[in-house]
Amino acid sequence: MILATTILETGRGTFPVSLHEDGSGARCLSIRQGDLGLPETAVRLHSACLFGESLGALDCDCSAQLDAAMRVIQERGRGAVIYLFQEGRGAGLLSKIHGMETQRVEGVNSFAAYESMGLPRDLRDYSLAKTALTDIGVGATISVMSNHPAKRAALEEMGYSVVARLPLSYQVSSLAYPELRMKRDEGGYEVDFGDITFSG
Ligand SMILES: [Zn+2]
Repeated sequence: MILATTILETGRGTFPVSLHEDGSGARCLSIRQGDLGLPETAVRLHSACLFGESLGALDCDCSAQLDAAMRVIQERGRGAVIYLFQEGRGAGLLSKIHGMETQRVEGVNSFAAYESMGLPRDLRDYSLAKTALTDIGVGATISVMSNHPAKRAALEEMGYSVVARLPLSYQVSSLAYPELRMKRDEGGYEVDFGDITFSG
């Protein structure tokens, strides 16, 4: 259910935002525009990244993907980002920081760091997004704004028909390149390197 809604004025456009809660008390946010019941609504399931989104960390593309998805919604006039508070690929901020330090000291990638800590590479659960997607009336067919096959699979498991994947174009630091290459080569992500510009 929707707990509260307001209108957010941003540099990427004006977006209604709502806080949603499921039956267990878990909460997520929707950021959206337009009539979402029409076919092929653009949807992004986005996992929180405090360091990238708020502190300007350069080693990932989370902030750039969120920015690009909101710009796509603005251009199309409709679509939704479901913002899930699951830091560190669902392992939480503490594990994320431990993992980052393992990466830094041992020179390994984030998958290997998690594995050395006895954690799965990815603990994320997207099922909470169904609450928000239902609350805001997203129709049966959607276009996904993500390179992560697990997000597409999760949406399909929720009953949505994913008819397209919209590549996101954005610029990130070259410091993000190793993480993106790891996601493509070891994680099966469909990273759109042709749409990503690396700087610095
Ligand atoms: Zn990030």
